[in-house]
Amino acid sequence: MKPAAFDYVVPRTVPEAVAALGDAGRKAQVLAGGQSLILEMHLQRIRPELVVDINRIAGLDRLSVEGDTLRVGALVRHSVFESAQSAPGPLGALFARAVVNIAHPPIRSRGTMVGSFAWAHPASEWCAIGTALDADIEVHGLEGKRVVAARDYFHGPYRTARRPQELITAVRFPLLGDDTGVGFIEHRRTHFCFAQVAVAAALTVRDGVIGEARIGLVNCADRPLRAGAAERALIGVEVGAPVDGHRLPDGHPFAHAGRIAATQDAAPLAEPFADVEYKRHAIAVLVGRTLCQAANDQRSRLAQPKGDHK
Ligand SMILES: Cc1cc2nc3c(=O)[nH]c(=O)nc-3n(C[C@H](O)[C@H](O)[C@H](O)COP(=O)(O)OP(=O)(O)OC[C@H]3O[C@@H](n4cnc5c(N)ncnc54)[C@H](O)[C@@H]3O)c2cc1C
Repeated sequence: MKPAAFDYVVPRTVPEAVAALGDAGRKAQVLAGGQSLILEMHLQRIRPELVVDINRIAGLDRLSVEGDTLRVGALVRHSVFESAQSAPGPLGALFARAVVNIAHPPIRSRGTMVGSFAWAHPASEWCAIGTALDADIEVHGLEGKRVVAARDYFHGPYRTARRPQELITAVRFPLLGDDTGVGFIEHRRTHFCFAQVAVAAALTVRDGVIGEARIGLVNCADRPLRAGAAERALIGVEVGAPVDGHRLPDGHPFAHAGRIAATQDAAPLAEPFADVEYKRHAIAVLVGRTLCQAANDQRSRLAQPKGDHK
C-alpha cells in the first residue's frame, strides 16, 4: 500500500517544529528515523495530515555528558550505542549489550533512541532500560519545556504522557558508577523479531553485598516495567562466588529474584508464539541469568584498572 496524502514541513529549530505540531494537533506526526512511522503510514494504520521532519534541526543529534547524566538528543541513532564508549562506564556497556538486539544495522543506522521512547512499543529495549534507570524525558510544547520521569511516562502500548503537540527533544539517563555491573539478555523467535522477553539489570555491589538493584523488563506487560519486588529481595544479599547463569541452582538468590519478577512484578500478555505461562517461565530464567551477567560484569570491572573496562 501507499501512504495517504500528507503535507510535509522541515523546521530548522525546535520552536518552529513545536509551532507546526501545535497548528496540526493530533493530525501531525514527527518524522525522526522513520523506521516505525513510514511502515505504519504505508500500511495506512497512521494517516497524518502533516509530517514534521525534525532531521534538519541543528543540535538534536548531540550526545553529551551533563553533570552526572547522559543526555541523548532526539536525533541520536541507535547505532551510536553499538560502541561501549558512547557513554561513560557501565552505562555505555549496558547500551552496547542491548542495542544489538534492535532489528538490524540499516534500521539501527536510521532509527533513534528517542523515537523509541515516543513510539512506546512494550518490546522496546530502550524504554525498559529508561524505566529501570529512572531516566527523564524532555518534552517541548507551545507552553515551553517540561520533564517527565520515565515511571510516569508510559501509559500502555503506544500511549505516553506526551501530548500530540509536544516534541521530545532528549532523554536523560543517570550515569552508573564503577561499583555497578550491568547485564542484558533477550529472547526472541528469530534474529529480526521483537523480543518475546528481555531483561536489563544493574547491580551496585559494595564489599560483596548488593546495595542497589535495578531490573528492567521488556515485553513483560503492556508497558516497560521495573521489577521492584525482585529488586527489593536482592538488597543486602551477598553476591558470593561467580556462577554460570545457565546452571543457576534453584536456591540461589538470583533464581529466587527471577521467580519473584515472574510472579509478582510481570503482567505478561499472550502473543501468537508465547502464551502467558511460557513468558513467566522465560522471565524467571532470564532475570536469573541477567543478574549473573551483571554480577560477573561488576567483578571484572573492579578487577581492571580504571578506564580499561569496555
Ligand atoms: C523490522 C523492524 C524491526 C524492529 N525491531 C525493533 C526492536 O527489536 N526493538 C525496538 O525497540 N524497535 C524495533 N524497531 C523499531 C525501531 O527501533 C524504530 O527506530 C523506533 O521504534 C522508532 O524510532 P524512529 O526514530 O525510527 O521513529 P519514527 O519512525 O520516525 O517515529 C515513530 C513515532 O514516534 C514519533 N516520534 C519520533 N520521534 C519523536 C520526537 N522526538 N518527539 C515526538 N514524537 C516523536 C513519531 O511521530 C511516530 O509516531 C524495529 C523496526 C523494524 C522496521
